[in-house]
Amino acid sequence: MGAGMAIKSYWQNYIGGKFVDSASGKRIAIEDPATGQQIAEIARAEAADVDRAVQAARACVESRALVDVRPGKRLRMLNEVAAHLRRRIDEIAPVLTLESGIQLDEAKDEVEVTARYFEYYAGLADKIEGRAIPLGKDFVDYTIPEPHGVSAHIIPWNFPPELAARGLGPALAVGNAVVVKSPELDPLAMTYIAEACDAAGFPAGAVNIIAGYGHDAGNALTAHPGVDQIVFTGSVVTGKAIMHAAAERLIPAVVELGGKSAGIVLPDADLEQVAHSVKWGIFYFAGQVCSAQSRLLVHRSIYDRTVERLRKVVDSLTIGPGMDNHFLTPVISAQQLGRVESLVESGLKAGARAVTGGGRVNRPGYFMQPTLLADVRPDMAVMQEEIFGPVLCIQSFDTIEQAIAIANGTKYGLCAGVYTKDIDRAHWIATRLVAGQVYVNQWFAGGIETPFGGVRQSGFGREKGQEAVSSYIRTKNVGIKIVAPDATSA
Ligand code: NAD
Repeated sequence: MGAGMAIKSYWQNYIGGKFVDSASGKRIAIEDPATGQQIAEIARAEAADVDRAVQAARACVESRALVDVRPGKRLRMLNEVAAHLRRRIDEIAPVLTLESGIQLDEAKDEVEVTARYFEYYAGLADKIEGRAIPLGKDFVDYTIPEPHGVSAHIIPWNFPPELAARGLGPALAVGNAVVVKSPELDPLAMTYIAEACDAAGFPAGAVNIIAGYGHDAGNALTAHPGVDQIVFTGSVVTGKAIMHAAAERLIPAVVELGGKSAGIVLPDADLEQVAHSVKWGIFYFAGQVCSAQSRLLVHRSIYDRTVERLRKVVDSLTIGPGMDNHFLTPVISAQQLGRVESLVESGLKAGARAVTGGGRVNRPGYFMQPTLLADVRPDMAVMQEEIFGPVLCIQSFDTIEQAIAIANGTKYGLCAGVYTKDIDRAHWIATRLVAGQVYVNQWFAGGIETPFGGVRQSGFGREKGQEAVSSYIRTKNVGIKIVAPDATSA
């Protein structure tokens, strides 16, 4: 298998248990970021299609088809979705690679993680319990964890199947019907989730997956009166628009946004662990990861040594199409490449030094050179803005307090990290970092089982792990007045 592999040329949306064209017949062209060439088209959902999908989900909610069954049935269907996806990994992964650019081996891993989300929340489906609240002999009181109803999920273009499964798993486990809006740049592999849910026996309307642009399909979905909850992953700007839409209708919203996460390297750090964490933390999927390690703060005593070690990491990376399993793959689009490049240029103009890279790669497709920017200052845009590309900013520090202040000194608060052999110190620093998660000695330590989310402008709410379930339920309390029977009359 290699670049140039052909895939199905036209893909449909999934609404009310059927694969359908859009009402207008319009389509979105999807391109391969490794070549810039069109690879397929997908039906383009607009307001009429959104309405159809929400109506289908609404009908599923009203029928109580998902809620009135024993939870063990939802468990079995979710497990079947996971099994279906696993059986088709070799078919799904190349599609994901072609549309998003991700390395083929990592695309396979992404499908596996997608399956794991369904499996993990299948395991919780029959363990979501209410509680009985003692109110004395005259009352019986208990709570029922109920689904919200129609849950609308809006997905970004990095890791679409995985991020969709992150929301679909818990939403379906507790009995919500879901309308997913796929990202317009790489919506194709999402079709396999629709097929898996269809094959697993979910009732019509329980899962609807449509592809469309944010400004029409996204807007129409978040404003739709039939939606009871919004789950959004994406940029800060869109996150604010989502919050406005939710406020307008007074419905709950989960927002998971971007980051500008920093790792702190103390003098006793294992530099091999740092090198490994830089390789994966910022160059994996060309740095287009919300939780990427995009800043590295290095103690002055080991700064030069660390920069030299990281230069070797960059030298070891092969650059090319994900389909050929290169490590440094393209960024998603021409627009994204332009944005990354202009932010790097602004850093260089402001006095940063490019240890490696600094511009685009001279070849077809949207490849950015793996870039190490040294001698940066916290006030530079490259140290404050999410670049979402293979660009690491490296700054030295003298005291731990200074490092913590720099790490905490952006509008974001998604992830942070510390590298040291001194676990007491690591714990002390972890408690002072303003972030939803802290990695010690390995970036991305954690998994689907561990709660994930941000603080500040990285959003709020917690996805993944058991914590996520609480976002998808609302608690109903039932209080019953009890009249003690006359014991003598029976
Ligand atoms: P984006 O905000 O541009 O788009 C995200 C989604 O929102 C897309 O599906 C888009 O079509 C839709 N959208 C756009 N405008 C809309 C509107 N007005 N109403 C409704 N929907 C609208 O983000 P992106 O560029 O696709 O994704 C990259 C961003 O996502 C980065 O900032 C990244 O850090 C963030 N992200 C966060 C997490 C997390 O879990 N915190 C995970 C992955 C990505």
